[in-house]
Amino acid sequence: MTTSAERVPAAPAAYARRPRVVIVGSGFGGLFAAQRLRKADVDITLIGKTSHHLFQPLLYQVATGILSEGEIAPATREILRRQENVRVLMGEVTDIDLAARTVTSTILGRTTVHPYDELIVAAGAGQSYFGNDRFAEFAPGMKSVDDALELRGRIFGAFELAELATDQAEIDRLMTFVVVGAGPTGVEMAGQIAELAHRTLKRDFRSIDPRTARIVLLDAAPYVLPSFGERLGGRARRQLNDIGVEVQLGAMVTDVDADGLDIKDADGQVRRINAATKIWAAGVQASPLGRMLGEQSGAEVDRAGRVSVLPDLTLPGHPEVHVVGDMMSLDKLPGVAQVAIQGGRYAADQIIRRLAGKEPKGPFHYFDKGSMATISRFSAVADIGKFKFSGFIAWVMWLVVHLFYIVGFKSRITTVLHWAVSFLGRGRSQRVATQQQVFGRLALENAGPDFEASKTGGLQDQPVQGDLTGRESA
Ligand SMILES: Cc1cc2nc3c(=O)[nH]c(=O)nc-3n(C[C@H](O)[C@H](O)[C@H](O)COP(=O)(O)OP(=O)(O)OC[C@H]3O[C@@H](n4cnc5c(N)ncnc54)[C@H](O)[C@@H]3O)c2cc1C
Repeated sequence: MTTSAERVPAAPAAYARRPRVVIVGSGFGGLFAAQRLRKADVDITLIGKTSHHLFQPLLYQVATGILSEGEIAPATREILRRQENVRVLMGEVTDIDLAARTVTSTILGRTTVHPYDELIVAAGAGQSYFGNDRFAEFAPGMKSVDDALELRGRIFGAFELAELATDQAEIDRLMTFVVVGAGPTGVEMAGQIAELAHRTLKRDFRSIDPRTARIVLLDAAPYVLPSFGERLGGRARRQLNDIGVEVQLGAMVTDVDADGLDIKDADGQVRRINAATKIWAAGVQASPLGRMLGEQSGAEVDRAGRVSVLPDLTLPGHPEVHVVGDMMSLDKLPGVAQVAIQGGRYAADQIIRRLAGKEPKGPFHYFDKGSMATISRFSAVADIGKFKFSGFIAWVMWLVVHLFYIVGFKSRITTVLHWAVSFLGRGRSQRVATQQQVFGRLALENAGPDFEASKTGGLQDQPVQGDLTGRESA
């Protein structure tokens, strides 16, 4: 392992003979684009910040001990092992040069420049705290495997500490869980914490009764699941109430600290909730690569950092650069998996057509297959075109769809087993939480920006000089 920054050739020389397609991101957009190019006569380099593909819709089940991280995060390299035209590389893309047609990625001080003929950028989005990034210290988001494992540790850890506590106010604080954001992620998270407290853990403690845990779901908006419409949102709210989740709407979080949250209600009243565990499920911010692409191409970038693309998902003046998924903005399409999957496949088809000398396809059309959110076991809401479902039937639909999209046969089998344990029985198979998972994020942040940058390069003006970790190996 090298200890100094170095620029290495991106790929063996033989690759230069065929058109080079670089894909940034191994999420839904990037992975499905790569798979669509399976038979194309091209050399693909797929660069991912992590070595896995992540099925984000089930992160909340990792956080609440139902699934293991491996079931929702298979190695990208393994998924694509039989596709010989793809080379999978780990690294954080820190620069895209549209004029030179190169992508630069960095990992542990090793900088690699990848020339491309066609580029697909699918770097997704991260959590947004709406300008209050200090909240992140006390209210982790739900975007990565790290986030889910940290939350798992915090949730189960809160019950452990409550069992030890003797002061009632402290027990109440430890047994209060606040989820901020009543979109699908917040609803699913709150529902699962309620099931955990009221079913799974009810016999596990001697001093405390986990069934008395308070689970609060709050949002500044006046509805639960606003994108599902008022009717389904109302049903979701009732189902949440039935399983013991307190829903507080029109409630804006003004501050978060270690002990709780300050809230301003719609009527201007200010109040506080004391809670040890806070979970941030509100707001997304597109990858900073979106802004970089906007600055170089003149494409507009919105407040959430999404770059406006042309109807064929390319950048103005750059038909060879395709932007898909959560980091692009087109016709107010939502940031959901199907937009990324269909966008990735469309971009791949455009590339195949161009290389075959065919006319481009027409503009990108998103086929809306509907949306779903679970509330608890046997209970969900589903919005599919003109049809609205709630309760058990919606839950069965949710189960089938999610099982279909989980990557890998083995993962599907183990997921079904874990769901049987949790939904038919009371158990949770994945309750392990280590100190590293709970404290690692903050410890790394305290190590300073140089340390952070040295791990992955980070997005910065100057490339990292040398491996600042001092490590001799990864
Ligand atoms: C908790 C949660 C629950 C969700 N639930 C649902 C749901 O139920 N249904 C639904 O349809 N959608 C859901 N979504 C949204 C859905 O997951 C996203 O819309 C989808 O993942 C977007 O795909 P993408 O390819 O644009 O980005 P992602 O899937 O986020 O992939 C981005 C990829 O880019 C990589 N990356 C980022 N920056 C860089 C960089 N600089 N260099 C290299 N690689 C980089 C990341 O590591 C990742 O591999 C959920 C999202 C979350 C967070």
